[in-house]
Amino acid sequence: MKAPILLITGGGRGIGAATAKLAAQQGYRVIINYQKDATSAENLVADIVSSGGLAHCLQADISDTDQVSHMFATIRRQWGPIMALVNNAGVLDQQARFVDTTPERWQRIFQTNVFGTMHCCQEAFQDMAKSRGGNGGAIVNVSSLASVYGSPNEYVDYAASKGAVDSFSKGFALEVASEGIRVNVVRPGLIYTDMHADGGEAGRVDRIGPNLPLQRGGRPEEVAEAIIWLLSDKSSYSTGGFIDVGGGR
Ligand code: NAP
Repeated sequence: MKAPILLITGGGRGIGAATAKLAAQQGYRVIINYQKDATSAENLVADIVSSGGLAHCLQADISDTDQVSHMFATIRRQWGPIMALVNNAGVLDQQARFVDTTPERWQRIFQTNVFGTMHCCQEAFQDMAKSRGGNGGAIVNVSSLASVYGSPNEYVDYAASKGAVDSFSKGFALEVASEGIRVNVVRPGLIYTDMHADGGEAGRVDRIGPNLPLQRGGRPEEVAEAIIWLLSDKSSYSTGGFIDVGGGR
């Protein structure tokens, strides 16, 4: 049987990379999109392939609509239509109070986290929708628990972008359910990845983790488990749903 094709945006590092490894073990042909860090993406592909899995990497900036369209066209041409999509790529900026942030910063964050996700969903619809000759599919959008608690004094604009991802995902899920496409959201809490260094506090997870109900930060692999379940047929009756992976935050 042909391996189902899964695209993971921002899949070269962090939560995306953990998801790529687990997905390859489950038999997906994993397409790992990255923006800048080719080395991490290529090393991950080599790692998966040396373990007997199927993986490829593809550079594209998902905040750029032309690059998203080009990426999907390349995947269709080289490997065929995708059956699964994880919108994982996401960005934040330096920790700051909202009043000290700029419209340029909000624009940059929304362009990737919200519009990138929305555009990838539209492209995936073309491959998956039964009315377009597809066989259905599963989409997981990686949001954040910041959408619930608002991330005051650190990342309010980022939190707002994830709130938009939540609302978009719910509406899109209900629109495309009859097309055989399931859309669900995973909302990680505090996970050990490079993202916190991008915000200016590499040790943020160690600072906050002990105060959470489960008393620690999470690992990317723990988020990947939820994503893979939502992609799989084991979650066949779930759509428009949310799984919080935040240690009780
Ligand atoms: P990460 O380690 O910083 O990885 C982010 C990934 O996104 C990188 O692979 C990066 O590509 C990619 N990326 C960023 N902008 C992109 C763009 N315009 N086009 C394509 N790829 C792009 O972050 P992470 O923690 O794994 O985050 C993954 C997701 O989880 C994000 O959506 C994030 O908001 C969410 N999340 C994380 C946490 C946490 O505590 N870590 C908590 C809640 C939610 P390059 O490798 O090429 O730079």
